[in-house]
Amino acid sequence: MNTTVTSRNRRHHPDLAHHHPVIQKVRGRWMWSCDCGSSSCRTDLTQLNWHQVVVEALRHATTIAA
Ligand SMILES: [Zn+2]
Repeated sequence: MNTTVTSRNRRHHPDLAHHHPVIQKVRGRWMWSCDCGSSSCRTDLTQLNWHQVVVEALRHATTIAA
């Protein structure tokens, strides 16, 4: 009995049509950043709470790349 677990690691295709912002806490501040280079750094002066960052990230994620 040789049980081989074959996990087909499907290569993640770059989804150019959608954004995938990542939410993280940096120096006590919640922020989101995306592979496209966008991030919430521009709103650095305004301290966003977690919910606001999530909302912004989701809004960015639904933005279709022009
Ligand atoms: Zn993006």
